[in-house]
Amino acid sequence: MKFLILGAGPAGLTFANRLLEKGETDFLVLEKEEEAGGLCRSKIIDDKPLDIGGGHFIDTKNQKVLEFLFKYMPMDEWKLFTRNSKIYLHNQFINSPIESNIWQLPIDEQIIYLKSTAAAGCNNNQKMPEKFVDWIYWKLGNKIADEYMIPYNQKMFGENLNILGTYWLDKLPNVSFDETLRSCLEHCPYGSQPAHTQFYYPKRYGSGEVWKRLAYRISDKIIYNENVREIDVEHHVVNCRFHADYIINTIPWMEFENIEGINRKIKNIIEQLKYTSVTISYYQGEINTDAHWIYYPQKELDYHRILVRKNFCANSIGYWSETNTERLHTNDSQYHYINKYAYPLNTIGKKELMQELLDYFKQREVYGLGRWGEWEHYNSDVVVSKAMILSDSILNKK
Ligand SMILES: Cc1cc2nc3c(=O)[nH]c(=O)nc-3n(C[C@H](O)[C@H](O)[C@H](O)COP(=O)(O)OP(=O)(O)OC[C@H]3O[C@@H](n4cnc5c(N)ncnc54)[C@H](O)[C@@H]3O)c2cc1C
Repeated sequence: MKFLILGAGPAGLTFANRLLEKGETDFLVLEKEEEAGGLCRSKIIDDKPLDIGGGHFIDTKNQKVLEFLFKYMPMDEWKLFTRNSKIYLHNQFINSPIESNIWQLPIDEQIIYLKSTAAAGCNNNQKMPEKFVDWIYWKLGNKIADEYMIPYNQKMFGENLNILGTYWLDKLPNVSFDETLRSCLEHCPYGSQPAHTQFYYPKRYGSGEVWKRLAYRISDKIIYNENVREIDVEHHVVNCRFHADYIINTIPWMEFENIEGINRKIKNIIEQLKYTSVTISYYQGEINTDAHWIYYPQKELDYHRILVRKNFCANSIGYWSETNTERLHTNDSQYHYINKYAYPLNTIGKKELMQELLDYFKQREVYGLGRWGEWEHYNSDVVVSKAMILSDSILNKK
């Protein structure tokens, strides 16, 4: 065939559906699971949907992405929420992001946070550091770093944060001392709120529904339970039996046990890619809060985030936790699901290594796409946008 797409997560599904929308029918998708959707799948647990890859919310200002998704699941099937996320800190809940909501803490704590913000390197013309941990202290000050950012990130990404770079942190806001002080004095969040204040979630389904519908549209072109293990890059053959002009790879590169026709350097790059896993654990109990989700930086708790299902999924009960699988000591939940590949790690030097890898494969008409193909912390909306652009650009080239 012309196009062979590896993986039926949002990246593969969008790429394939975009081909179809443009009249191209000569393609096939290979997926190792028995269903599509990847990290964005939902299952019915306790009578209501549970997002088994963690809480997934559509949060984008990209109209093209929304138009694309609404074609498969019309806008009136979604509910638009105003984000209400909290952080459990100093034995109380405060709103997230922390830098806008220090005013909600006891006054003695506020003073310590304010002093620390004033002393942060970025507020004192100090040079921007190149390592993640140093950068957090420089950007947010010691107090936010020690109480929240460092322990939280260690829970998510592993104890050794020194392997991480800083090139991916441009989305974090500037913490201005003046604004933080004003917010504490006026008892309200400061002016520049984060961009992501609203999100869509399906009214009657879990977040996986839209991806199910994309898969349904191309159901005769997806082979399920096909575990991709081998690729011959020169001859464009996958698992010794599928051949295509163009190969679109959305699966983690280390999933290939055998890659024929690449040099040692590229193999080395693949060996250097790192990721963490997430286990989702569902509990029937109730948490008395109006938050959609809550962040927990406390090291004595295994999990780092709790999603309060009843607050975004109508008529449901219960909640689920998200835990870095390495940290999971006991699991007494009613249901759990392990996502082996959850977060691609932004290790020092990864950006350059991935550029080299992607260029190498692209010259051979094998394209890396999505969270794993590009090894980026993309949310699903970014993946949709990337997949649409790649699909159109290859079709235009032909
Ligand atoms: C905890 C968590 C919370 C998130 N929250 C949000 C959110 O709120 N909003 C948002 O937009 N995004 C969120 N994301 C990001 C979102 O999950 C990704 O952007 C999206 O899933 C990426 O799609 P993808 O197709 O690139 O990868 P995936 O969804 O991982 O899909 C990859 C596919 O490849 C398949 N595959 C893997 N190996 C093989 C193999 N060997 N052979 C064949 N197939 C294979 C997998 O089974 C899967 O179907 C979150 C991610 C996590 C981990």
